[in-house]
Amino acid sequence: MDNQNGFDAEAIKQAFRTILRSIGEDPDREGLKETPCRVARMYEEIFQGKDQDPRDHLATTFDEDHHEMVILRDIPFYSMCEHHFMPFFGKAHVGYIPNGKIVGLSKLARVVEGFARRPQVQERLTSQIADAIEEVLTPKGVGVVIEGIHTCMTMRGIKKPGSVMMTSAMRGAFRSRASTRSEFMDLIRSESHLG
Ligand SMILES: [Zn+2]
Repeated sequence: MDNQNGFDAEAIKQAFRTILRSIGEDPDREGLKETPCRVARMYEEIFQGKDQDPRDHLATTFDEDHHEMVILRDIPFYSMCEHHFMPFFGKAHVGYIPNGKIVGLSKLARVVEGFARRPQVQERLTSQIADAIEEVLTPKGVGVVIEGIHTCMTMRGIKKPGSVMMTSAMRGAFRSRASTRSEFMDLIRSESHLG
């Protein structure tokens, strides 16, 4: 059934039956019978960010006279490569220097998740997160670094398991000041003592 966001589970089920038949499988055999239905439900969940504006998570801010860097690192994310429809996943590190406004740390993680849960490429995911924080919080600077493992690369094609794609987006002071950028990079690379 078509919902208001254009998500059509029935069409996905039919299409996935076609894919199964097209690779020479029998979509009605025991193990595959419910698969199109499972795929439809799974797509609804993993693409639910498509119709959201993750900026909304940043709407609630707190006035705080803190002008040093705030970092949330090692944020796990799962996304879907839009070129191959294969998962890519890893960790995002987000830092900003507040300009009178701070947000709850969990909101930064929600922004990452909102942009990840849609057909994506890692480069765009990185810049969308940075741009959203820059637009809504108008901080003195934003830095986003993402480390991603792409199953479309580790499982097929040139098959390079273990290779990690790194992307970064730097805005404001993170871009203009080398010392700010290296403070951020040092902090996200340093060993955590919390386990
Ligand atoms: Zn890919």
